[in-house]
Amino acid sequence: MTDFAAIKAMFHLPEGMIYLDGNSLGALPKAAGDAVANTVTDQWGEMLITGWNKAGWMAMPMQIGDRIGKLIGAEPGHVVVGDTLSVKVYQALAAGLDMRPDRKVILSDSGNFPTDLYMAEGLIRALDKGHELRVVPPGEVAQAIDKDVAVLMLTEVDYRTGRRHDMPDLTRRAHAAGAVTLWDLAHSAGALPVDLAAAKADFAVGCTYKYLNGGPGAPAFIYVAPRHAGQISTVLSGWQGHEAPFAFDLDYRPNAGAERLRVGTPPILQMAALSAALDIWDKVDMWDLRRRSMALSDMFIAGIEAACPMLRLASPRDAQARGSQVSFAFDEGYAAMQALIARGVIGDFRAPDIMRFGITPLYIDEGDVQGAIDIIADVMTNRLWDRPEYKIRAAVT
Ligand SMILES: *Cc1c(COP(=O)(O)O)cnc(C)c1O
Repeated sequence: MTDFAAIKAMFHLPEGMIYLDGNSLGALPKAAGDAVANTVTDQWGEMLITGWNKAGWMAMPMQIGDRIGKLIGAEPGHVVVGDTLSVKVYQALAAGLDMRPDRKVILSDSGNFPTDLYMAEGLIRALDKGHELRVVPPGEVAQAIDKDVAVLMLTEVDYRTGRRHDMPDLTRRAHAAGAVTLWDLAHSAGALPVDLAAAKADFAVGCTYKYLNGGPGAPAFIYVAPRHAGQISTVLSGWQGHEAPFAFDLDYRPNAGAERLRVGTPPILQMAALSAALDIWDKVDMWDLRRRSMALSDMFIAGIEAACPMLRLASPRDAQARGSQVSFAFDEGYAAMQALIARGVIGDFRAPDIMRFGITPLYIDEGDVQGAIDIIADVMTNRLWDRPEYKIRAAVT
């Protein structure tokens, strides 16, 4: 059994704050500060360039990749850490399209995070081979998979509503139609059990600053199935993915395996923080986490619905069909969220009308959920949000 009280004590949580935004930026693991400080003083400061060998910096993208791989059911050696998620989407999508040169359609859904769609558009322009991005509503993805689809590119858990796609089923359907699959796990990794190998996913990508708590700017990860790793093309053919980076050949030859998905010099300070954050996961059973996430989310929904009839549940009611967040729709959702933030309940707002609350069981417990329900009920029933200062939009919502 996972000891969630002990795990919560491993995080720094500001006094008086109920943090329901771990789905956007995870809380600070107490060990991360020292890990970064030691990397700065003992490694960067003392070792300088020799740190690449002595402190094992060069091996970190694959080593940390394996630790993330355990959380998402990936085979060892097939998760690579680096860059940002947007970049990893581009890289994986390009490799997937190259596997199906006779097909021209990228199929995605309107619940996808915009950057995934934007990166696809940019790749289509760069390739200039007549590809088409086809975006359908989330509920129509299964019927839209046909023989024209080269890559099915989906985010498993919808960032706005928390609706969850059936990854094994859609992967099976895509393969039956001859398509390649690319799964974005931004709201899955560290939020619920994922088994990429069992689902036979071809590619997956995700970020580490949300549920994995790697900190702002933490690098992304990319997965390629072992059956493809040695064959895929690398559109971002950087030197770190070369077969022999330190031979400094003038010609690019990819690494024999998944490591070809490395691009450039890895972000060591960010990875020091991420590595400390991943230590916590050694003590967590993913199924315990899932059960707790569902129970806390159900408690939150029941409490809000009982107290706030003006809020409309925008997430699936069935816990199995959700990730680890709960969203409510409200026309004045932006102002309402600012009023909550002013009272220490931190969620976020997603246009046009979604108030989003992340339920992260590593550091959110029943007391936090009840405390949040009480404050939300007060703000909503007493219209405390209806003030001009809560209606001014900040750059980051
Ligand atoms: C958070 C998120 C991103 C963010 O991409 P970055 O390159 O890290 O800014 C991309 N895709 C999805 C689905 C996300 O949820």
